[in-house]
Amino acid sequence: MPAVAEQIRSLEEYLVMSDEELSTRIEEARRELGDRVVILGHHYQRDDVVRHADLTGDSYQLSVMASRTDAEFIVFCGVHFMAESADILGKPRQRVILPDLGAGCSMADMATIEQVEDAWEQLREIGVLDQKVAPITYMNSSAAIKAFCGRNEGVVCTSSNAVPLFDIYLKEFDKMFFFPDQHLGRNTGAKFGIPLDRMALWNPHEELGGNTAEDLLNAKLILWRGHCSVHGRFKPWHVDKIRADIPGVQVLVHPECMREVVALSDLDGSTSFIIKTVENSPSGSKWAIGTEVNLVNRLQQRFPDKEIHLLAPDLCMCATMYRIAPQNLAWAMDNLVDGNVVNEIVVDEETKHYARVALDRMISLTEKKT
Ligand code: SF4
Repeated sequence: MPAVAEQIRSLEEYLVMSDEELSTRIEEARRELGDRVVILGHHYQRDDVVRHADLTGDSYQLSVMASRTDAEFIVFCGVHFMAESADILGKPRQRVILPDLGAGCSMADMATIEQVEDAWEQLREIGVLDQKVAPITYMNSSAAIKAFCGRNEGVVCTSSNAVPLFDIYLKEFDKMFFFPDQHLGRNTGAKFGIPLDRMALWNPHEELGGNTAEDLLNAKLILWRGHCSVHGRFKPWHVDKIRADIPGVQVLVHPECMREVVALSDLDGSTSFIIKTVENSPSGSKWAIGTEVNLVNRLQQRFPDKEIHLLAPDLCMCATMYRIAPQNLAWAMDNLVDGNVVNEIVVDEETKHYARVALDRMISLTEKKT
């Protein structure tokens, strides 16, 4: 790296480069930086970006894997909350870069820390917090909400470990307040036999979340009204149609899909579960998969001996993650070569500390369960 950083390069010049030129620039920068950089590609990332990734996986896996490397720079081709998680879990000297700061997550953005703190205070005022209430947040949330859970005896969960964590918290607490994905919360609660009338839905734009005090006192699970815009596109009629069109097809969906879709499916589970299920299935098996289209397309390419379909005919793509294009990646990498760290994601120390408390609790509780 030059002793004195050069002027930050403008993104403009990258917007007019050919695909080939961009690819060459990214690979040259990677060679130049060597082990000082690790590029992470989320499972839902587009092909022209993921082909440059050193590591691929889901958000939590990627953050953990990056923290185990000695790389000084973690270039996260995912969305904002994932880059925050990498900063929380990374070594102190590791710096995290999100190649496009506009790559957010529509679900994570549905719960702000101000709204969550306000909801908690409303629950306190009506006496709900006189019961033992645990705040639990899905990994797909801001660092500030993870820290809120860390401060209040709560925990973070992923779609892989939501079931064992619910098992522990449902036994030890009177109720749980689950952020921000109502569908993962409802689908997981249903696995424990919690009836729908004991799952209150909290709308942050209404007083008491749109509930009566009695409903909230009686609820076992309070679900934040958030959802994933990608998984929310799968509807029950898609399941009915694909079963009619393809006899023998098995329907495999992510638990961010709505309850009615999960109830009609054969199997549901995290992205890793979906990949492993297809990997381990016999040649000739037929799958209709309800998750992000880039992942489904790559499964189709990897397993030509299996019949793999996207559950919905229309494009179910994570549009915000798609914002990270080869142009942004090449720009961020070239700037690193010049000694300029662009689009760095930094979580403040206090938030990092309490978010880490919630994540460490997740790790130790899931280890105890396995
Ligand atoms: S797929 Fe859904 S939950 Fe995942 S990053 Fe995109 S919007 Fe967020």
